[in-house]
Amino acid sequence: MTYPWHIEALNPPFGDPGFYLFNHASGQALLFDLGDLHRLAAKELLKVSHIFISHAHIDHLIGFDQLLRLFLNQAKHLRLYGPPGIIAIVGHKLRGYSWNLTAHHDLRLTAHAVHETRIEQTTFACRHKFHPEPAISLPRPSSVICETSTFSLAAATLDHGLDCLAFALQEPPQIKILKPELQKNNWLPGPWLSQLQRLLRHRMQNTAPPEPTLIEINGSSYPLQQVADTITQIRPGLKIGYVTDTGCTPENWRRLLPLLKDADMLLCEAAFLEAAADKASVSKHLTAAQAGRLAGQSRAKKLRLFHFSPRHAHQAAEFYRQAGEHFAGPID
Ligand SMILES: [Zn+2]
Ligand SMILES: [Zn+2]
Repeated sequence: MTYPWHIEALNPPFGDPGFYLFNHASGQALLFDLGDLHRLAAKELLKVSHIFISHAHIDHLIGFDQLLRLFLNQAKHLRLYGPPGIIAIVGHKLRGYSWNLTAHHDLRLTAHAVHETRIEQTTFACRHKFHPEPAISLPRPSSVICETSTFSLAAATLDHGLDCLAFALQEPPQIKILKPELQKNNWLPGPWLSQLQRLLRHRMQNTAPPEPTLIEINGSSYPLQQVADTITQIRPGLKIGYVTDTGCTPENWRRLLPLLKDADMLLCEAAFLEAAADKASVSKHLTAAQAGRLAGQSRAKKLRLFHFSPRHAHQAAEFYRQAGEHFAGPID
């Protein structure tokens, strides 16, 4: 399958953690964590609209200033999500600079603090010297914390000695219109095609109007199902999991398995090798073997490892070997 997302690590596996995900269809990008960003080109970073921060340890947030500087003169609205406390941390970072010459810039940044049952949000506008607007608190009825037309994003709160978020990005089902079939039926493209896609999406989300639904094409009416069977191909949306800085505890596992279930790609930290499993346990990180087990038990199709501890420098191959003892799918 050609991935609709280009997934790029911010750094090599022994460097700062995080991933840049670019969606080919929408032209938008998102970031999982904000390690050092200098390897990414400015024109790629400027496509970012959403940033998902697992926790505020410095290796996951040091890129914030780089991103801020790049976006400063852009009339854009960035959305940042993180664990409880992230709004104060973003506020402190913004207060660390003087903003007397930037009141003509229209950059806005909304920070969201993800709690178990609610999401608190505050907007900081460059025009107002990044003084925080009053916070709003919204209920969080499910694991989903963010929904756009391109993806929805669910999160679970894990224990890393502090609250640390794991993420699962889910695309909606993708409906492809088969142009040769359109021509065979002499159905001319028109607004009915968007109507068809909208109705099919609603039906997949169980919000469809009662059947039978008719679609009008060039003056004639056809049942929705007949049109869908004739000219569409539907593939399930892609699922991408992101897990970092988490202890291998029964409670973390209980939260991770449903979040990551059947992911097409699992991006997972592997901080330590088995020889340092005690270090992993004390610092609440995963070993390569535990990352492999997580991928296997959550039935991921592919595993990508990152965030290797420098104490194992020169042993990169061993991370993949140890993870591979517990996961039969491809690992890179
Ligand atoms: Zn870390
Ligand atoms: Zn950490």
